[in-house]
Amino acid sequence: MGNQINDACGVVGVFSPTGDAARVAFFGIFSLQHRGQESAGIATISEGGIEHVHTGNGLVSGVFDENNLRNLPGPMAIGHTRYSTTGISSIENAQPVHASGPNGDIFVAHNGNIVNSLDLRNELEELGATFSTTTDSEVAAVLLAYINGDTWESRIKTFMIKAKGSYSLTILTKDAIYAVRDPLGFRPLCFGVLGQGWIVASETCALDNVGALLERDINPGEIVRLDLEGIHSTPSQSDTSKFCIFENIYFARPDSILDGNRVYTSRESMGAALFRQSPIKADLVTAIPDSAIPAAVGYARESGIIFEDTLIKNRNVGRTFIKPTQELRDEGVRAKFTPLVENIRGRNIVLIDDSIVRGTTTPEVVKLLRESGALKVHVRVCAPPIKYPCHYGIDMPSRAELIASNNTIDEIRDKLGADSLEYLDINLLREAVGGQPDRYCDACFTGDYPIPVQLELDKFVLDREEKKG
Ligand code: SF4
Repeated sequence: MGNQINDACGVVGVFSPTGDAARVAFFGIFSLQHRGQESAGIATISEGGIEHVHTGNGLVSGVFDENNLRNLPGPMAIGHTRYSTTGISSIENAQPVHASGPNGDIFVAHNGNIVNSLDLRNELEELGATFSTTTDSEVAAVLLAYINGDTWESRIKTFMIKAKGSYSLTILTKDAIYAVRDPLGFRPLCFGVLGQGWIVASETCALDNVGALLERDINPGEIVRLDLEGIHSTPSQSDTSKFCIFENIYFARPDSILDGNRVYTSRESMGAALFRQSPIKADLVTAIPDSAIPAAVGYARESGIIFEDTLIKNRNVGRTFIKPTQELRDEGVRAKFTPLVENIRGRNIVLIDDSIVRGTTTPEVVKLLRESGALKVHVRVCAPPIKYPCHYGIDMPSRAELIASNNTIDEIRDKLGADSLEYLDINLLREAVGGQPDRYCDACFTGDYPIPVQLELDKFVLDREEKKG
């Protein structure tokens, strides 16, 4: 897919009575690096309520070192890796974001997208609040710092009524960490036991990496508090879920467990379903590395056709979305994959891709395979055609740029230069991820948005307002 869509962030929260929560948070966000590579940050509160924070642009390993981790003392920490869905990519927009108001000082780390952030920001400005970033996450933090309520639980409940959209939050106050998932549970959030303490994180892979034991997912609409007394849940009022089905296809790490299912296994099931849906004779099954590999393994197992690597990914090439022009993107694709000619020459190939967004990466890969001697290239996609942009925390091109919005499947096949093209049926996708079909958001395939969105809003809406202001 060439990373033309990007997740909106990873969050963690750590309560560690033995101290050094920041170090655990560091390893937590390090394992969530795939969820955001623009900036990273950790905030802590130490004895006496003293706040500490360090943020920086770039990868987690570049932002933190022994020195700055030592300057983040205390038993409570929250951390964040960012890819922007609202607000430009800049150091000011790095998280955790700080907010100050009648409820005191807090830090917030946010994964998601609050669709009514412009209205909320205007309301808060009328109350005298000021903003130093152009993110919806700061709007969330300031709203929490200003909202009425005697306890944090009651404030967060009111927040859930006012804020529309997707949010998995970790909130650091003077006394506790709160972990919150929006009432439809668009983005993942789970928690586990870590020695005498607790950790919450966007994905279970972060728990595994620090040696924590997964307790469970935080339910949609649930509030979980971590403090000296242990863990306390305020159950959800919501009995609906609209978990992002795309987390299973592409965003989440394959070793994570989402909604009780291992992502790797779900992806294998998608590949098997693709073969059952549209079987074809071929000499080998291969994948666009890395995210499509589990589906290719599943396809191979179901079909009896062998799986072989045909492309080696150069891990040192920057993510292709960073490049500003189409020419540079194409060059990026070629520098990213080296073909294994011996595996390709004279073979009929089934090429598994996780999804097709703009349709600019897959044709380059098909071309590489043909230039390397492939006789036929049959493209199989683990997702249905993406026709609608996401407004719930995934950065996607506009409708005009989505290839499936403007072309028939035959036209797309011709643009890819493939001998045949099949997308996974939406019902088979829902079966493959193992849950109840109506538990998922699949709006980018169906246009059935669970929360009304203003389609004209884009990720820079608050930046434009700032300029006007
Ligand atoms: S629109 Fe697509 S990417 Fe966005 S939350 Fe829904 S399923 Fe996920």
